[in-house]
Amino acid sequence: YRLNVTPIRTRDGENIGFITLLQDITKLKEVDQIKSDFVSTVSHEFRTPLTSIGMGVGLLLDETPGTINNDQRELLEVIQEDSDRLKNLVSDLLDLSRIESGKIQMDIESYSIKDIAENASKPFHMIAKDKRIDIQLDMREELSKVKADFNKISLVLTNLIGNALKYTATDGTGKIVISARETANKMLICVSDNGKGIPEDYQQRIFEKFIQVKDDNGETPGGTGLGLAISKEIVNAHGGEIWVKSQLGEGSTFYFTLSLGR
Ligand code: ADP
Repeated sequence: YRLNVTPIRTRDGENIGFITLLQDITKLKEVDQIKSDFVSTVSHEFRTPLTSIGMGVGLLLDETPGTINNDQRELLEVIQEDSDRLKNLVSDLLDLSRIESGKIQMDIESYSIKDIAENASKPFHMIAKDKRIDIQLDMREELSKVKADFNKISLVLTNLIGNALKYTATDGTGKIVISARETANKMLICVSDNGKGIPEDYQQRIFEKFIQVKDDNGETPGGTGLGLAISKEIVNAHGGEIWVKSQLGEGSTFYFTLSLGR
């Protein structure tokens, strides 16, 4: 059951009663389960044929010099790009449905957050250099350890850093900082950029599946719209929270928390 209590207040703010709504959500839960089973089965079944399409096109492109003309090559390249995109989507959907259903094994141990952040940011240094974006890891050696599944928190940081790179200017002014701060009982990890920013009314919704901010031409960016949904599920499964503060045109800072380890 879901219980919803709303106070009724007079204009002066005095409480004069409550509206109580008790809702049977058994059916809702069942539908949710069917939906996630369906997504997981379909994604799984998509994987094998997609792999062979990708391999086949790759072979045609690599191993037949001179036997295909330019138009055919262009077509094959489009097929390759699209099948890559579909493969990413399928793999994101599978990750998400596994985490959502609680089927994924969490391998929690104490780690240095700096080690995880270095592992996650390493693959981006080349891309950042190409895009003339300055990327900095600002974490003290003496920080306490965090309780984390190394690979999954790496994936969260990979998503956040990848986004920061995607939505930050490439004119040499772009800057990304990955940092961590310790509070009484938590580690606060931040990925901040000085990129395009996120409109206020999207700042909560981008953590939902498939929500992408449309650009000025009404187009959604490449990508699956699942990265932040996956990141939120992972952080929540660790008992942490994730949120964003952002100003349009100024940049965005994504925050998430983890428990301290030993
Ligand atoms: P994807 O990046 O695949 O579209 P995500 O779930 O990672 O999906 O992100 C959802 C949306 O949030 C993005 O499409 C983009 O509109 C917005 N977004 C995420 N990170 C940033 C950022 N650092 N700066 C500006 N917009 C962002």
